[in-house]
Amino acid sequence: MLDKLSSSLKETVKKIAMSKRIDRKTVDELVRDLQRALIQADVKISLVKELSTRVRDRALKEKAVLNPREHVIKVLYEELMKILGRGIELPLTPQKIMMVGLHGSGKTSSCAKLARYFQKKGLKPAVICADIYRPAASAQLKQLCAEINVPFFDTASCGRTDVLEIVKAGIEEFERYDIKIIDTAGRHALESEMIEEIRKIESEIKPEQRLLVLDASIGQQASVQAKAFDDAIGITGIIITKMDGTAKGGGALSAVAETNSGIAFLGTGEKIDDFERFEPDRFVSRMLGMGDIKSLIEMAEDSLKPEEMETTLKGKFTLNDLYKQLEMLRKMGPFKKLMQMLPLGGLDIDLDDSAYQVTEEKLKKFRVIMDSMTEEERNEPKIINSSRLRRIAIGSGTSKAEVNELLKYHRMMQKMMKSLISGRGRIPMMRGMPLKMMKKLK
Ligand code: GDP
Ligand code: MG
Repeated sequence: MLDKLSSSLKETVKKIAMSKRIDRKTVDELVRDLQRALIQADVKISLVKELSTRVRDRALKEKAVLNPREHVIKVLYEELMKILGRGIELPLTPQKIMMVGLHGSGKTSSCAKLARYFQKKGLKPAVICADIYRPAASAQLKQLCAEINVPFFDTASCGRTDVLEIVKAGIEEFERYDIKIIDTAGRHALESEMIEEIRKIESEIKPEQRLLVLDASIGQQASVQAKAFDDAIGITGIIITKMDGTAKGGGALSAVAETNSGIAFLGTGEKIDDFERFEPDRFVSRMLGMGDIKSLIEMAEDSLKPEEMETTLKGKFTLNDLYKQLEMLRKMGPFKKLMQMLPLGGLDIDLDDSAYQVTEEKLKKFRVIMDSMTEEERNEPKIINSSRLRRIAIGSGTSKAEVNELLKYHRMMQKMMKSLISGRGRIPMMRGMPLKMMKKLK
């Protein structure tokens, strides 16, 4: 899904993380990369320009809470989220859902996908087909419903041929079902008869949700359709389908973001389970390749407050402090992701996967070893003599050499902390950690 955009954005983020410093030149380059990537994904030029201005301004003018690299990544993330759409969540309560959209947009498939979604949430869905114009449409939906064991109702179920009567009969038939999904007929364009028909169904049935289904490949045209359907029946949410098959998804998403409607789901393939809720934060972080960047950043802000850092730095930096640091790293998730996020820009470390792997393993081991120490030992590592060393090694299932390695690492960090505080003090944790020390972690 939006693979090309995603790989360009990942490249951009990596460049920022690796850049020696964040200055005008770096930011200009970032903005150029960003513009290229977004325009290729069909995002409207005027939107791209606005976004570029905001990113440039914020990146250069805002005072960074943490370090400049993280700040820039955060700005990028927040600004992308703004243009790539607002997400909405359908309530998990009994409701009637009417699906509208042009012919071929993916309405019928989305009815089944939506039914499946609610079914997985433990609700009982049922589906009504109000497309009387194409017998194949009914057969298609019936087949899909059979696959997921969801009851289905259409003209054949009641012997009526009037759309309104079919829908009313269906709603009655499915009275005891939580979610009633109504598939309507599409047309090739925004014809007045179609609009008239969905208006009639809407005013008769009063469905709580009126979901518009849009094919992602229409790109920026999405906003025209969204506005037209919204004027007609008041859209409560949008499903963008075929995100898997087009590079124009960025256009569709950003065009919708300019309307009043939020995006509820994305269709990502032809199978019933190729369907996901649209959550802008997750979506953007996935595109940037950051895992859960939001919580990472929040956690980084919580744990790396400069004042607190300073206290840590001023203290004597015991094994307990080291433990806290490692705990924090662990909470923040995979070490590799963290390293891509946090103040490592000044470091010339290679981004080889195996290096991260070993490093993370080592950190885990360190924590296990520290768990086998007494509080006293952690506060005053100097008291660890050879008999204590043996006890700790046995207790943690490691070797004396490994315990020694931790102690050595701790001494190194302690020394580094001291040298940091004797410098300017307010320095985020890993900034300035020499390459040599990082390599020793392996
Ligand atoms: P309708 O005319 O709006 O009811 O559209 P359909 O549900 O019949 O879908 C039209 C075609 O698009 C069908 O071949 C579907 O399998 C396909 N389709 C629907 N949603 C998706 C999607 O998210 N990804 C892909 N690749 N194909 C889809
Ligand atoms: Mg259909």
